[in-house]
Amino acid sequence: MWCGTAVRAVRGAGGSRAASGAAAAQLRRWLEGELEGIRGAGTWKSERVIASRQGPHLRLAGGGAGILNFCANNYLGLASHPQVIRAAVQALEEFGAGLSSVRFICGTQSIHKDLEEKIARFHQREDAILYASCFDANAGIFEALLTPEDAVLSDELNHASIIDGIRLCKANKYRYKHMDMHDLEAKLQDAQKHRLRLVATDGAFSMDGDIAPLREICQLAQKYDALVFIDECHATGFLGPNGRGTDELLGVMDKVTIINSTLGKALGGAAGGYTTGPKPLIDLLRQRSRPYLFSNSLPPAVVGCASKALDLLMESNAIAQSMAAKTQRFRSKMTAAGFTISGKDHPICPVMLGDARLAAVMAEDMLSRGIYVIGFSYPVVPKGKARIRVQISAVHSDEDIDRCVEAFIEVGRKHGALP
Ligand code: PLP
Repeated sequence: MWCGTAVRAVRGAGGSRAASGAAAAQLRRWLEGELEGIRGAGTWKSERVIASRQGPHLRLAGGGAGILNFCANNYLGLASHPQVIRAAVQALEEFGAGLSSVRFICGTQSIHKDLEEKIARFHQREDAILYASCFDANAGIFEALLTPEDAVLSDELNHASIIDGIRLCKANKYRYKHMDMHDLEAKLQDAQKHRLRLVATDGAFSMDGDIAPLREICQLAQKYDALVFIDECHATGFLGPNGRGTDELLGVMDKVTIINSTLGKALGGAAGGYTTGPKPLIDLLRQRSRPYLFSNSLPPAVVGCASKALDLLMESNAIAQSMAAKTQRFRSKMTAAGFTISGKDHPICPVMLGDARLAAVMAEDMLSRGIYVIGFSYPVVPKGKARIRVQISAVHSDEDIDRCVEAFIEVGRKHGALP
């Protein structure tokens, strides 16, 4: 045990306060060992520092201006949209920096209620509830909704926040093979003994850019009397003819019961998440969902951004549509060049390379040519399935996309990924 002994703080050489004492020394040794282990395993995640706004063109700290950015979830380019920024400033000035309170004590302003109403309208659902993040929305829903008499059936590749949220609940847990409808059906048959069944899936999977077969999932849910939950973080705002998401794209808006999504990606990119669905469910979450009950309200500036992003999307579907054309341009040019791009019709375009070192070296070489992309390898993706994940944004120009493809071709040839 490294805790238990009293810790005294002393001022270190750089002016920082370093705790002294045996427990603190033991903790430091343990931490250093853990960090060494992460480095040794080759899974260390370093962070590049951006010195400009989020957007298709970036300036990196310490130089590196004019970098073409292909690795943000800024799918619609709204993170730096002038109207979104102005709405944030207005909300900040009118409603202040923050609420210093959770919602149910004194943290609900008119803008929070307006945004919840707008989210519900956008998704054509009865009501919505805001959270500080979608991670929180996923952490809060399963425990509040499901009892030990119930069952939750989860795609094995669901996002970490869904997995954690399910861990927190007492329902019976079933994990079905990724997008495998035979396996889901078998698990649904097994789960008939429970009171209530909830199928939980990402609408679009962020590592592969593949889209859940929601039509088939909803058919099975109907057959076996189950509810459907989708996480739409990588779909809200741009999938479907009006950007409503995977359920609109696949024509099942009236069959999906619960949607969780984020305000921190396509909808302005600031922060925040939500659940939208039947009103009694939202009412129950306001009473029981722990990340909602015990965490501060969303700051007004953040609410202002998301609210304006939704206005823009509800006024016109032009932004959502332009996204699809850009995605198509990248995917078809890369495929024609000989690369394998995973997924289909999604702005997450994983360039499949297989070898972890090749993915890392190519991503680094792309950056040296001014293109910012990230390589992913085990344990983030399965062994032997390393890739560079490219994310297209509606604000990439055709020239940006062509420059990225050309750089991939050069770098791919140089490192042997292309003949
Ligand atoms: N769900 C999915 C599928 C995600 O990709 C993410 C973010 O990476 C989250 C949930 C969490 O969203 P937030 O950043 O709002 O916490």
